[in-house]
Amino acid sequence: MAGDGSVKLIDEKGIRLDGRKVDELRPVNIKIGVIKNADGSAEIRMGKNIIIAAVYGPRELHPKHRALADRALIQCFYRMSTFSVSDRKSPAPSRREKEISMVISNSLASVVLTEKYPRTTIDVYLQVLQADGGTRTASLTAASVALADAGIPMRGLIASVAAGLINDKAVLDLFDVEDQKGSGDLPLGYCPVLDEISLLQLDGVFTVKQFEDCLNIAIKGAKDLYEIQRDALKQKYTDIRAEVEVPVKPKTEEPKEEPKEEPKVAPKPVLKVEKPKTEEPKPSKDDKKEVE
Ligand code: UDP
Repeated sequence: MAGDGSVKLIDEKGIRLDGRKVDELRPVNIKIGVIKNADGSAEIRMGKNIIIAAVYGPRELHPKHRALADRALIQCFYRMSTFSVSDRKSPAPSRREKEISMVISNSLASVVLTEKYPRTTIDVYLQVLQADGGTRTASLTAASVALADAGIPMRGLIASVAAGLINDKAVLDLFDVEDQKGSGDLPLGYCPVLDEISLLQLDGVFTVKQFEDCLNIAIKGAKDLYEIQRDALKQKYTDIRAEVEVPVKPKTEEPKEEPKEEPKVAPKPVLKVEKPKTEEPKPSKDDKKEVE
């Protein structure tokens, strides 16, 4: 967070570099069931971010001594691909990736009914294919939908988005340039069904008013995101139904046809049998002699 004033991030009309208003989300698209080998999966595209979430489990945990006697362990593995940013990202797991994996695990554990699966693990793999700021929040949004796709019981879905400070004003869903040049960032994980916050981080210095503005704008954004998550899950079942169902013809009364009078005696086909034409033998000269 540089708080750099050299780039004009918002113009006089309140429009940002990418054409959005201050309280607008980036275009979001969520697809369910993209990884066939996984128990549940989702792909999220949010602006230029592309992230895959794949869920495996509940399954046996190895090594077994890490198992929890009364509930399932949720393990998240957030990774940025080497090619996801323009400066090649080192393939070695960074401290940042470990930290993001941990905060996403904790956030999901607050809504998953882990007590139903003691001594097991639920593994959530999050692979960032393309990054453009806000990947931790987009990953949490995708992970939540992938868990639902895996049929893991939850108290509610988590929708996650960040708000930040640009020119000391609250702005929703920062992309990479805004994230770098703005003066503060507040990632939020929110469960609209429970009206509960499951993730809240803060980077930068905020006044109480700025904090409240960012929190309110992020909650509103999360509620909008939640509708997109629900629609994506519904779409999956609409697609399955369309694949499975045999189209049923609508029952319409067919017009009654009046019985046709059949001809009493059908005319018999007349068969003409032609006799094969055989040429009569011409009288030979010898025959003539006999006659004479
Ligand atoms: N980033 C990068 N290389 C890295 C890590 C991050 O270029 O090794 C960029 C990437 O665009 C990412 C952004 O920095 O989205 C912001 O990272 P941050 O730690 O704030 O997490 P995020 O905003 O993605 O949740």
